[in-house]
Amino acid sequence: MNKLVRPGDPDWEQARVGRVFNARRPSREPAAVLLATCEQDLVDGVDLARANGWKVSVRSGGHSWAAWSVRDDALLIDLGGFREMTYDPATTIVSVTPSVKGGQELRPFLASHGRFFAGGHCPTVGVGGFLLQGGQGYHARGWGWAAEQIAAIDVVTADGELVRASETENSDLFWAARGAGPGFFGLVTRFHLRTRPFPAAIAETVHVYPLDAFDEVMTWLDGMHHTVSPDVEIVAVSAEGTLAVTGLALCDTMPAAVEALAPLETCPAIGRALVRRTAEPSSFESHAERQLAANPEGYRYIVDNAWLTGLSPAVTELFTTLPTARSFVIWFSMAPLRELPDMAFSMQSEVYCATYLVYDDPADDEPLRAWLTDRMTALQPVTAGQYLGDSDFTARQLRFMGDAQYRRLHEIRSRRDPESLFAGYLTGDGGQPANINPWETP
Ligand SMILES: Cc1cc2nc3c(=O)[nH]c(=O)nc-3n(C[C@H](O)[C@H](O)[C@H](O)COP(=O)(O)OP(=O)(O)OC[C@H]3O[C@@H](n4cnc5c(N)ncnc54)[C@H](O)[C@@H]3O)c2cc1C
Repeated sequence: MNKLVRPGDPDWEQARVGRVFNARRPSREPAAVLLATCEQDLVDGVDLARANGWKVSVRSGGHSWAAWSVRDDALLIDLGGFREMTYDPATTIVSVTPSVKGGQELRPFLASHGRFFAGGHCPTVGVGGFLLQGGQGYHARGWGWAAEQIAAIDVVTADGELVRASETENSDLFWAARGAGPGFFGLVTRFHLRTRPFPAAIAETVHVYPLDAFDEVMTWLDGMHHTVSPDVEIVAVSAEGTLAVTGLALCDTMPAAVEALAPLETCPAIGRALVRRTAEPSSFESHAERQLAANPEGYRYIVDNAWLTGLSPAVTELFTTLPTARSFVIWFSMAPLRELPDMAFSMQSEVYCATYLVYDDPADDEPLRAWLTDRMTALQPVTAGQYLGDSDFTARQLRFMGDAQYRRLHEIRSRRDPESLFAGYLTGDGGQPANINPWETP
């Protein structure tokens, strides 16, 4: 049964921010929160917002770092109590509601059918926000963006209609839903996702180096990652004063996984590795445990990211001077780049770099934000743009879509949601993001 919570109600604070992952909570005040439990609640919620002159904001998994769901004077429709998954063996399509957690819920459910969907790396991320912004799931390098596996969505439009959108029906909504992220102008009630066979062999290589080997290791990795089999996810992580280069192979057989990971043994600094684990059998469960440990709940997070076009002294500086013990920064290979299908998601480069500052003292909010903005700004000469998933446009905005795609998104939005019922991007000044790299404009 749904519930409408208003400011002043005893459970207001819980309804407003209780399901926000980041302990650095915003002070923004919605007009009300609708705790939805079924599809009809979502249709009714959109009608209720329109009738009251409120905007609509949405919360699925609550993992947006910048708490995009919490918007002033909006009706926040919280989908936490609406969790459903059904699998159709005839089509191998799984249908899920947006608050389902990609790792903790969808993965085991599909595994029981021998199937797999590449959700986010942290098992508690909701599929809703993840898929709408593109979705950098397992093996994005070889398999592409998770949003590319959306066969259809069910969506409540700004005029309150519940419609199906796919390549052949309401294709403008379908195009926008694959990449618009928090700028999407509809309420997705269900995703219909293509699945793949559950990987039969999972193996992992982990080489941990001292940080003073950064330039040698990363010059080698940056020069060769595009040659590694697409079956390997390649990530370099700086954390706790070391640099870990990891390769995760998802293959049909263990010998194939061992062979796919072999190129990672060619690092010229391999003799300096503090830890050297080569092509060891692994599992999604052990990965999930490590992700949860690296992203603990109850902490404050400040994040930013850049699509890199190469290395630079500023990259070295970022990776080797992290300001808090739990903070980490990742270098995530997408090379060689695959051509994207026609969808709103349209900004990427061969290397994704994201920085996560993790801490617990509110007094550190401003100094850490200033530290991160300085370090990320110094990456500009090797920056192509930003990924929505680890961005906060109230702090820093770069290009996150191609120009043509951004124009098309505006055009569809002005037709589908002419009165801007849906809250849209959170930019700090209430405007739309500029979608530019400021240093590139005359
Ligand atoms: C610990 C952690 C690990 C992460 N790992 C990854 C990763 O591996 N790969 C990756 O790509 N991202 C990752 N992210 C980023 C994450 O995918 C995004 O923050 C995403 O927006 C979270 O989705 P959500 O539904 O949980 O968040 P929410 O905060 O609930 O939703 C974010 C926004 O998406 C929109 N939205 C959500 N659901 C709907 C809907 N049903 N209809 C319309 N609009 C909707 C709304 O604007 C909403 O405010 C991670 C985040 C965290 C905190």
